[in-house]
Amino acid sequence: MDLNIKVNEKNHLDIGGVDAVEIAKKYGTPTYVIDENRIRDNYNRFYNAFTKYYSDFKVFYACKANTNIAVLKILEEEGCCVDAVSPGEVYISKKLGFSGDRILFTGNNIKDDELKEVADTGALLNIDSVSALKRLAKIVDPDGMKISFRVNPMVGAGHHDHCITGGVMSKFGIMDSEAVEVYSLAKDLGFNPVGMHSHIGSGILDPEPFKLAISSTMDIAGKVHQEADIEFEFLDFGGGIGVPYTPTENTVDIDKFAKENVALFKDKLKEYKMNNPTMYLEPGRYLVADAAALLVSVNSVKQSYRKFIGVDAGFNTLLRPAMYDSYHHIVVANKMNEENTEEVDIAGNVCESGDLFARDRPMPKIDEGDTLAILNAGAYSFTMASNYNTRPLPKEVLVSNGETIVVREEQTYDDIFEKQTMPEHLK
Ligand SMILES: *Cc1c(COP(=O)(O)O)cnc(C)c1O
Repeated sequence: MDLNIKVNEKNHLDIGGVDAVEIAKKYGTPTYVIDENRIRDNYNRFYNAFTKYYSDFKVFYACKANTNIAVLKILEEEGCCVDAVSPGEVYISKKLGFSGDRILFTGNNIKDDELKEVADTGALLNIDSVSALKRLAKIVDPDGMKISFRVNPMVGAGHHDHCITGGVMSKFGIMDSEAVEVYSLAKDLGFNPVGMHSHIGSGILDPEPFKLAISSTMDIAGKVHQEADIEFEFLDFGGGIGVPYTPTENTVDIDKFAKENVALFKDKLKEYKMNNPTMYLEPGRYLVADAAALLVSVNSVKQSYRKFIGVDAGFNTLLRPAMYDSYHHIVVANKMNEENTEEVDIAGNVCESGDLFARDRPMPKIDEGDTLAILNAGAYSFTMASNYNTRPLPKEVLVSNGETIVVREEQTYDDIFEKQTMPEHLK
């Protein structure tokens, strides 16, 4: 089993050297618990795998996966860069010390004010459409400004249809057939187009789609290099590298993945007689997914038509199961040594039938008061949480060298209503 699970001598779940049951007791539930060292390990494993085969390589963390400021700062310290998809992500990255040249802004359907806002920060704009290019030319001085374009490499993959971002049904990127024209237009407008980007989807464990995407993106880049006379400073192949969520899935063999993709990249550089641009990748999930768990408490055990284990969080806290039908492995943090004895449904506290974390899940006997840990809750988990059902966003705790530190307080009810205003006539 490749899931990141550690057990201590009390048969409790261990997160970064701390007993998860103690964390739940101390901070209450629901609480997201983030393991600092795991993030550092994930980053270094990834970075070292690629630099072993191609030294001119940079990692741009796709921060929509997790924007806790401690998580961002940990990666900043490691030397990572950021891929931001909104002005808000650019804003917080800059504030935390990422310089403009360490931020790539890959927005889509961005309005003029936002383009201007991001351009002013010094982040590099990765343009998604001719529309955005032409609008940008009117609102900034293009004079030599470095930009890149997102292309659609006509390959898509992902753990769910919603997460496939390449191919004919995708809203992302410029078409391969218009690439030469768009890069030429960018030059004519006075920009300095130095990069090309593609990103085919998210949660991909199969290495084949990446190879197809790299190959296809390199063909587009090669053509642009030759026909629009562009000397690329970087080529960016996006993120999407999956992690195992179920006990039977395997981790991506990252050394092999790096070796094969770099070889392909180098072959294509040679084929199109390109200089040696920097290779960028943009993992989000890979860096943070298995570095956090969501701790919840069992508050009710109900035997009706099915056996329901009711917990104190719902899809407002962790949306992936309801939104993507995603599997998250769930363990009983205080009973790690017990065998599975029954199949249960693990249900949240939101008033909707779709609010389930697991259906027919083999589990040990669960009692009220038990602490469950929903694993792999570091990516697309807190960042997708909401106040639905007027539930406050939960706490986040960082485990750092055996110590626990609150890195986000739980919201209060007043926080939820803070920005609402009562019209005069209703006062
Ligand atoms: C979401 C996203 C990523 C990261 O995807 P992961 O599956 O988390 O690795 C990378 N690049 C862009 C442009 C994205 O939108």
